[in-house]
Amino acid sequence: MDKKIQTVTGEIKKDKIKGAMVHEHLAMNLSGVRGETTSILGNQETLPAISEELNTLKELGVNTIVELTNIGMGRNPGLLKELAEKNELYIVAGTGYYKEEYYPPEVVELSLEELAEKLTNEILSDMENTGIKAGVYGEIGSSYNVITPSEQKVFRAVARSHKVTGAPISTHCELGTMGLEQRKIFDEEDISPEKISFGHQDLNENIHEQLELLRWGAFIQFDTVGKVRYRTDEARIQNLLELLDKGFENNILLSCDITRKTYLKKFGGHGYVYLYDSFLEKLQKQGVTCDIIKKMTVENPSRFLAF
Ligand SMILES: [Zn+2]
Repeated sequence: MDKKIQTVTGEIKKDKIKGAMVHEHLAMNLSGVRGETTSILGNQETLPAISEELNTLKELGVNTIVELTNIGMGRNPGLLKELAEKNELYIVAGTGYYKEEYYPPEVVELSLEELAEKLTNEILSDMENTGIKAGVYGEIGSSYNVITPSEQKVFRAVARSHKVTGAPISTHCELGTMGLEQRKIFDEEDISPEKISFGHQDLNENIHEQLELLRWGAFIQFDTVGKVRYRTDEARIQNLLELLDKGFENNILLSCDITRKTYLKKFGGHGYVYLYDSFLEKLQKQGVTCDIIKKMTVENPSRFLAF
């Protein structure tokens, strides 16, 4: 059977993707845990700004957003569907749990098998009786320099559910840490690397770790493009060039991971659009070919997402 990509508005063929952002948030609320009010997206205040940027993205050739807000992060499948329809975009929604601080009580209360079954249901049936299916596990995370026991439980539940559904898995590595330890869990659960993408690897300044994940056959994400508070884009680009030089253009995915109101253009940030209206140009100036850019923004996301 031909593999399909599962969006909030239905299944699509792989070749429908013309430009993707693989790690974003459009409807999210982390303000409770963070104790502030800027980590809210998709509310009355931010929605017009988000819609405007989605429009600009369309003009830049981007038609696919992977929305990795999952259970406990204030996700809103109905709003994602509305945005997909209104802006004629493909949006892939996430299931799973983020990282320990954000876990709802069910992560502890349910057994590993029950958790896996719940996630399987979100992929095969629907999310919270909305009639809308998730199309990816993510972002599933570990904390800074540690994978806590409950985070391990989530990784194993996702792995077991993945064995039933085949859906792709996108991880959160806090400031780029713990990728190899995450891999170890997938290894123990006998999950092959083709459907796994390790997140925030552009914040991991240990290239040997990046290379080990790539050599294993997984994807890695340069998904905090433009967040120069964590790492300059010059350093990001040098790192990326080194990986491309070693021939890993088939396993790299790009995104901006917009998580705060203040990252939106309208509120003074670089916006979702930054990857396509600035960063790719910088890569081209450094000699990255259109062919390789197409791999990172179209072909790799298509291959990763289809199941
Ligand atoms: Zn993340």
